[in-house]
Amino acid sequence: MSTSSISSIRGMADYLPEACEILEQVETAIRDVTDIYGYRQIRTPIVEKTDLFSRSIGEATDIVEKEMYTFQDRNGDCLTLRPEATASCVRAGIQHGLLHNQTNRLWYLGPMFRYERPQKGRYRQFHQFGIEAFGWTGPDIDAEIISLGTRLWEVLGLEETNLEINYLGSGSSRLNYLKNLKKFLKSRSAELDDYSQNRLETNPLRVLDSKNVTTQKVLEDAPEILDYLDVTERRHFDKLLKYLELTSINYQVNTRLVRGLDYYTGAVYEWKSNYLGAQNAFCGGGRYDDLVAQLGGSDLPATGFACGMERLVDLYNQTKSIKKRSGDIYVVMLGTAAENVGYPLAETLRRANISTICNCGGGDIKKQLRRAGNSNMLIAIIIGEEEAANGQLTVKPLRSGDQQLTVAQNEIINVLRLQLERETSFFR
Ligand code: AMP
Repeated sequence: MSTSSISSIRGMADYLPEACEILEQVETAIRDVTDIYGYRQIRTPIVEKTDLFSRSIGEATDIVEKEMYTFQDRNGDCLTLRPEATASCVRAGIQHGLLHNQTNRLWYLGPMFRYERPQKGRYRQFHQFGIEAFGWTGPDIDAEIISLGTRLWEVLGLEETNLEINYLGSGSSRLNYLKNLKKFLKSRSAELDDYSQNRLETNPLRVLDSKNVTTQKVLEDAPEILDYLDVTERRHFDKLLKYLELTSINYQVNTRLVRGLDYYTGAVYEWKSNYLGAQNAFCGGGRYDDLVAQLGGSDLPATGFACGMERLVDLYNQTKSIKKRSGDIYVVMLGTAAENVGYPLAETLRRANISTICNCGGGDIKKQLRRAGNSNMLIAIIIGEEEAANGQLTVKPLRSGDQQLTVAQNEIINVLRLQLERETSFFR
């Protein structure tokens, strides 16, 4: 048997306690903001039938062509670890009868899997928080979702979040645009990078997203999608921009903005930040009015966004709003009589919602106090032979430098509550 140690899979990170605490702060903000906007959570399995993704995301997308974790289960069924959750939400909504002439405001949070080349901000297991709204056709709901996102960035204290927006159109306007775009790209194909040359036939919209400098130069002369929108689409887009202005949301129209998934049909948008480096988009979304019907449901309009948690946390880490988390009490116990008092006391404190660690592993007072100081607790309660015998406790503030106090056991909770408030302000 090999004794070499086993490491995690490339591109799949462990979240150690400190990282989890920061993640929890971001998750709490997400729960608060989605709640305030009236969105309800949905959770779906991380494994789905492969067809669900190939039929929704698009056969000629990077995700479906080369990034899915697909395998056969023991029954021979072809399954995939979800690369995103919109298709799953639609599948669940259809399956449970949520998407029949109804409206739904939903949010989700969970791990996604894509076999991409790992680098900063790009992983093989990553997490997405997302919003999906079903049943509304107008731009009012798109504006609402964008304002929910904007509010979340504000609550998290993020700076420099730039919203870029475009309108992809659907039906004949999209076809007409694609025809002209293809014609243009073909006429300049010799100047395009290899990837764009390949995408030209299968998915010409993706060429607009090329990061290649020479291709970008060519794209400066490319036809623009906004010139091809029909009257209704143009009206939708203008109205959406009006709504954003009404709620003081800054945006920039970027006519080359397209998304990596094929199902978008109307407004699309992305938030980017200069603080993120090469992978600068941290949230993106838009309208996908055809997807519900395409996956076997009724003809129901839909819109939403997906936000990468790792990139969001990266941005959050760069703000000043991070709070290191502290606990409350470390119980130092010296001898059996002290333990007889200490263990029941710890349970009483925990019942009163005061977080408490009891010293484990014995040790003299010096050793136990050193452990208390190294923990993230704010106050030590010291119980020695004498305290145990007299029904008293010694309270030693660990952060403020205040004098230690002797307190009667029956007064301890009130004293702790006051002192904890003081200690919190000294905790870094
Ligand atoms: P998408 O589902 O491709 O529209 O992406 C939405 C958001 O998910 C992006 O803006 C990123 O923040 C995040 N994201 C997508 N792929 C990855 C990845 N491989 N690693 C980390 N975050 C990702």
